[in-house]
Amino acid sequence: MGKIISFANQKGGVGKTTSAVNIAASLGVLGYNTLLVDLDPQGNATSGVGIAKKSLQYTIKDVLMGKISAPEAVIKTEFQKLSLIPSNMSLAGTEFDLLQDDSPEPWAAMKNAFLPLKAEYDYIIIDCPPALGMLTMNSLSASDGVVIPMQCEFYALEGLSQLMITISKIKAHYNNSLAVTGILLTMYTNRLLLTQQVKNELKKHYAGKLFETSISRGVKLSEAPGFGLPVYYHDKKSKGATEYLAVANELSTRI
Ligand code: ADP
Ligand code: MG
Repeated sequence: MGKIISFANQKGGVGKTTSAVNIAASLGVLGYNTLLVDLDPQGNATSGVGIAKKSLQYTIKDVLMGKISAPEAVIKTEFQKLSLIPSNMSLAGTEFDLLQDDSPEPWAAMKNAFLPLKAEYDYIIIDCPPALGMLTMNSLSASDGVVIPMQCEFYALEGLSQLMITISKIKAHYNNSLAVTGILLTMYTNRLLLTQQVKNELKKHYAGKLFETSISRGVKLSEAPGFGLPVYYHDKKSKGATEYLAVANELSTRI
């Protein structure tokens, strides 16, 4: 059975989408049959793998609202072993629609819809929106693991403890198989003292959860989405490509 992994952090701009896209592509390169799911109305993961947001026939919204089955929403990308369930602005009202629906379990729409996907893929990577609303709740309720991308800032530590509380609540009430797969440091610059301090705090409080590899700040990573390419296909030799492959490898040993 495949593993479903949410990439979540209620803070925006911390590297969720960059990590979800590049880890999903790296898992494909490593030979795993991988599905990337864009769960953000911004649709950045969709355009990040070269799919035009405007011309979509179906999106994740249609799956969550029960209009089509999840396999029907899957698009093949041009990259090795990587498929996508896309998103665009139409997802924006879906949190409200899920609550309006008569379903007694609005947080379980994804869990139920994704069951047929688990047999088909080794990894299903979900790029969550920057909020702890009904979409992220659906994602965490459906997931086996959660990866938390974060920047090395002091405030990030406060956000992290908040997120950890939310994760334990979801685990207790909705999904007891949910586990934190790992915390991933993004946009890392080794030179800063603050970076080292934050890293040490993380090691102290979340021993064993921090990925061995951190993702350095790099221009190739920030320019690749503009070409609709994961960084491996933009510049195989770049630091970003090497580091994301290493993290994907580590992830595959953790879950
Ligand atoms: P989120 O999905 O959490 O909002 P993104 O992945 O979209 O965050 O990243 C926010 C911005 O930072 C984007 O412009 C992205 O290209 C850039 N970025 C992310 N990771 C890196 C990195 N390692 N080096 C340079 N730029 C990065
Ligand atoms: Mg994002």
